[in-house]
Amino acid sequence: MEHRSMETRTIQVTEEKKALRGSLAETIEGFFLKHRDRFWKVHVVVLLLMVVLIGVPAFMPLPDEEASLFDDFSLFANFIIWGVWFPLLFLSVIFAGRLWCGVFCPQGAASEYASKKGFALAPPRWLRRDWIAIVSFVAVTIFGQVVGVRDYPLATLEVLGGTTLVAVLVGYIYGGGRRVWCRYLCPMGPLLGVLSRLGAVSFERAAGSAKGYPCPTFVNTATKTSSANCIECFRCVNPEERGTLRVRLRRLGREVEEIERREPNLWEVLFLFSATGLALGAFYWQISPLYIRLKHALGDIFMDLGLLHVVGSSGPRWLMVNYPEAGEVFLWLDVMAITIFMVTSMVAVALALSVFTALASLIDRRGLSVKDGFLRFGYVYGPVALLSLVIGLGQILFQTTTALGVTQQVVKSLEMAFFAAGGLWSVYLAYRLAKGNMLTMVPLSLGTVLVAALWYGVLF
Ligand code: SF4
Ligand code: SF4
Repeated sequence: MEHRSMETRTIQVTEEKKALRGSLAETIEGFFLKHRDRFWKVHVVVLLLMVVLIGVPAFMPLPDEEASLFDDFSLFANFIIWGVWFPLLFLSVIFAGRLWCGVFCPQGAASEYASKKGFALAPPRWLRRDWIAIVSFVAVTIFGQVVGVRDYPLATLEVLGGTTLVAVLVGYIYGGGRRVWCRYLCPMGPLLGVLSRLGAVSFERAAGSAKGYPCPTFVNTATKTSSANCIECFRCVNPEERGTLRVRLRRLGREVEEIERREPNLWEVLFLFSATGLALGAFYWQISPLYIRLKHALGDIFMDLGLLHVVGSSGPRWLMVNYPEAGEVFLWLDVMAITIFMVTSMVAVALALSVFTALASLIDRRGLSVKDGFLRFGYVYGPVALLSLVIGLGQILFQTTTALGVTQQVVKSLEMAFFAAGGLWSVYLAYRLAKGNMLTMVPLSLGTVLVAALWYGVLF
């Protein structure tokens, strides 16, 4: 009797939660639909802000050693871009999906605007490959490191301004009003796509109805089950029409838990593995003795080849860090060593996670092929990778809070709590996906521990 009343109570609570989520989703949806026609104004405001934050410091002298972000605009802009904007952008995907892409991002909007005015060619087949965006991410990340994108305003302008110019050019050539850049080329796209699968917001079809709306990122809205490519532009949300999509709020990580029926994508998983290794490489080369050894070994090889004078020279600022006034000048040797170090880190981490994921699917004993195992279990590492990356990118923010009087201990505890949450969330996803076969959790947890341990080495 008592058991039955507890069950009834649990059902009641679940229903109440669903109703609350439903009404909150309707309120959010109503707000954005009401202001849908004004999204372009938001794009313009963000674009102007970006022009000021990215453009102005590039033409200012480098700040001197005593300067702080409170008295130097260049340092202030750097803090806003790399300390606030980037970490919060990634974090926002957890709570709001790719709202940044649909409502705020000036780069995507500029590309779409250009595509309405340009040649409107259909994107060629080679460009529509899923791996193209991975190549774009790897290339831009490594290039960002060698030009010092986080440290020098000129490099920030070059990378963020340069990709915006390419986005506009791509839009002018391809798409006819759609966002070819956002779907296939934006280096941020695949990362935001994978992370949005963990997020609390989804645009879902109502049961039994389907309609193909012209989606800017080529999502088939009549069959859509994945959040990855949805940039939340709200164009397919028309509640008065049959077949409309509706905003839904869901438990964090829900889409990954039911990934089998949510259009899993092998390239997305491989991207998650590779991006984790590449991001780690970008942090590690700056502190690792292995990097120094690699650089010396490369130097020896080039000396034996009689080419030390070539790799021992520096290049122009638009190709590598070359700021003698700040005491930092890269040589071609540095560029090569950084590239090799980061690519090696990417391959090593991707291989290790692939092995753990393949092991999980072998243990699973439900007759999964290695590919299906990847698709089911590969997304598990998303939370630990994401939250660690946010802490890594947020170092400037955390350092600033200590400058504002928050004690080092409080900041470290916050970082640690955040870090632990990422790891535990990954293990929880592994538990949900194991569906009772606890042995499956072992390799997945080991993969999570590996990612966490590697991040721990650079963060704490
Ligand atoms: S995919 Fe890239 S360019 Fe497009 S809206 Fe998102 S962040 Fe901006
Ligand atoms: S699925 Fe709908 S909301 Fe998402 S990008 Fe396409 S049209 Fe916009």
